[in-house]
Amino acid sequence: MVIRCEDGRIDILSLSLPELEEEIKAMGEKTFRAGQIFDWLHAKKVRKFDEMTNLSVQLRDVLQKKFCLKSLFIVKRLESHTDNTVKYLYRLPDGNHVESVIMEYEHGNTVCVSTQVGCKMGCRFCASTIAGYKRDLLPSEILLQIYEAGRDSGRKISGVVLMGIGEPMDNYDNVVCFLGLLSCEKGMNMSLRHVSVSTCGIVPRIYELAELKLGITLSVSLHAANNRARSEIMPVNNRYDIGELMEACRYYFKVTGRRISFEYALIDGHNDSRADAEELSRLLGDMVCHVNVIPVNKIKERDYRSDRKAAYRFQRLLGEYGINATVRRTLGADIDAACGQLRREYEI
Ligand code: SAH
Repeated sequence: MVIRCEDGRIDILSLSLPELEEEIKAMGEKTFRAGQIFDWLHAKKVRKFDEMTNLSVQLRDVLQKKFCLKSLFIVKRLESHTDNTVKYLYRLPDGNHVESVIMEYEHGNTVCVSTQVGCKMGCRFCASTIAGYKRDLLPSEILLQIYEAGRDSGRKISGVVLMGIGEPMDNYDNVVCFLGLLSCEKGMNMSLRHVSVSTCGIVPRIYELAELKLGITLSVSLHAANNRARSEIMPVNNRYDIGELMEACRYYFKVTGRRISFEYALIDGHNDSRADAEELSRLLGDMVCHVNVIPVNKIKERDYRSDRKAAYRFQRLLGEYGINATVRRTLGADIDAACGQLRREYEI
């Protein structure tokens, strides 16, 4: 995607290979140079044009004038002593902050990335929304969270989840462009089967995303089985209610064949009763899906609570009604790895 930085230069890390080829050709250079540059940027992941040592010094100078090469600065790194989770607070070139987390699973390392600076969605239990929305992240800025985390930790990154700060479907074009870059053979070459996109339920975007048939896992933050309970904690439900959301999810499965994952943050006394489990099973009964039960992560500003025992109880109840569910592993509990909490300390 051709994006101009404030000084008029083009954000080179947001360009696809064909777009970079166009730009390089327009400069009067041979097209193959674009491939070399793309390789430096996305396979070798250099941070300066001067590191592109198979290009002439003159060409590197011209590139510097025409393109900006963004980077993220690690302001804080928190390492869990219990499970190898690492959380990063990054400063963006304009002084804003976002967070990412590396989580270690049996099959490899997954990075959880942010897609916006803050969030507009206003979910009551979520820390990301409290510091307010500032702006969307560019494709390059989403990508750099992965590149930096990989470089800093020295670990190979084999999966990505878009579950950090922000609502990916509220930054749709940049997110889709980012997914293209992430999966580009000549770059990071990540299979989109190892990528999950989480949404609070922006219905028109779910339809659009389905048409792209990307192979990603769609993760839907449901958190309640009826409109009354959902609207109380998720304002987005007043715009797109559960009925519309379920219809979009069914459509997504029909078109992509990909099982949907529903996130259900359990909150004491709000959505954790037997009746809630039964209602949820009626809602999802005919769908090919999976439910992830998450004990709500306590945030300073709200009094929502739950615990793992309650989560296992709710999982059992869902099982009784024939719904497949897991309790999400808690990673990085000692470093407060849930999103949005670190940035807030810096923004308020
Ligand atoms: N905006 C997207 C992705 C970011 S949030 C979305 O809503 O899906 C990633 C996940 O964390 C979502 O399922 C969100 O509802 C959940 N979440 C946010 N705050 C939480 C908290 N305090 N406890 C448990 N889950 C939380």
